[in-house]
Amino acid sequence: MQQSQFPILRTKVYDRPLIYLDNAATTQKPQSVIDVLTSYYTSLNSNIHRGTHYLATAATERFEEVRRKVCSFINAADRTEVVFTRGTTESINLVASSFGERFIGEGDEVIVSAMEHHSDMVPWQMVCERKGAKIKYIPFSDEGVLDLDIYKTLFSEKTRIVAVNHVSNTLGTVNPVAEIIKIAHSHDVPVLIDGAQSVAHIPVDVQALDCDFYCFSGHKMYAPMGVGVMYGKRRWLDEMPPYQGGGEMIKDVTLEKTTYNELPFKFEAGTPSVGDVLGLGAAIDFMLTEGVENIGRHEMELHDYAVERMRNIEGMRFIGTAPQKAAVISFLIGNAHPYDVGTLLDKLGVAVRTGHHCTQPIMDRYGIPGTVRASFAVYNTRDDVDAFVNALNRIVPMLS
Ligand code: PMP
Repeated sequence: MQQSQFPILRTKVYDRPLIYLDNAATTQKPQSVIDVLTSYYTSLNSNIHRGTHYLATAATERFEEVRRKVCSFINAADRTEVVFTRGTTESINLVASSFGERFIGEGDEVIVSAMEHHSDMVPWQMVCERKGAKIKYIPFSDEGVLDLDIYKTLFSEKTRIVAVNHVSNTLGTVNPVAEIIKIAHSHDVPVLIDGAQSVAHIPVDVQALDCDFYCFSGHKMYAPMGVGVMYGKRRWLDEMPPYQGGGEMIKDVTLEKTTYNELPFKFEAGTPSVGDVLGLGAAIDFMLTEGVENIGRHEMELHDYAVERMRNIEGMRFIGTAPQKAAVISFLIGNAHPYDVGTLLDKLGVAVRTGHHCTQPIMDRYGIPGTVRASFAVYNTRDDVDAFVNALNRIVPMLS
């Protein structure tokens, strides 16, 4: 892969080359994605679906073409199961709210893993509070592995849905989602997978997984911010009420009553971020050219190389050491506050993330205030890892 495809990587910070290792927060964008945004606003900008003029028709065709591309990228059975949202957060809120409205009642139960991002925990807490339902959490081990034996005991005839991430943004654990889904389905319970940290690193086949919902964000897979996807099986989407009311999601409105549009438009109220959706299409093209499996393999090589070098640093403590991992490294050094480590690394040109990573319950589980997190993408290199580890070695004496 040519790093030159990512113009931002030429940026200098404090007169040093940028080493960008904050990819779990958001990836940088290739020129092909940036070009699509420019050309959309230069020659295609128009509101979609409701115009008869040339631009509206052309923009609509391109928009719907991306829906078909997403459908094939995740191997959904039908393009009507692909709903565009603003991102993972909105996708999960949509499901929690709409599925919850229809299927969760007083005394019911929802199973959520204890290692979820707040985006896949708070919406369930909100719907459970609203409905008088209860959440049961799947615990995880010190290494960051979900306890499936306990998971199996959490089901009752009141269980309505399971929500779990494919890859933990904090621990890097790749969860055994196929097995988790199989167990839930043996109880006739549907499963939502938070795929925010997986789609850019692991080939996803929603039919093979047999998940009921799969949610992800464009901006973590080389696409622009402001676009995401909620995949849902038709059997659920057909029965779920709309999430938001407004234009586009209606079939007919009178002063007395509204009938709703067909799928997927029933869940797409208002004007979508058309240019960003087209950017998502370009990002998928980019990923398919590289090969998602190749991307994941490259990142894991960097991960393994980094971990091997980091082990030699005095006081190094890794948070999240599951046998099945993605290229996310969370760590602490001695008693140093993660924020101090992140700030010093920044001054040496290395961008990492520090804090609780929107997973406060994980921090509580380990009794720590936060971690430093380095995460890799397709454009990172062994030189980046060397620069990162050398920077760590430079700052360690300053920490003590
Ligand atoms: N789930 C996970 C696992 C994530 O890592 C993130 C983003 N950090 C989200 C959900 C939320 O994604 P977004 O902010 O793009 O909606």
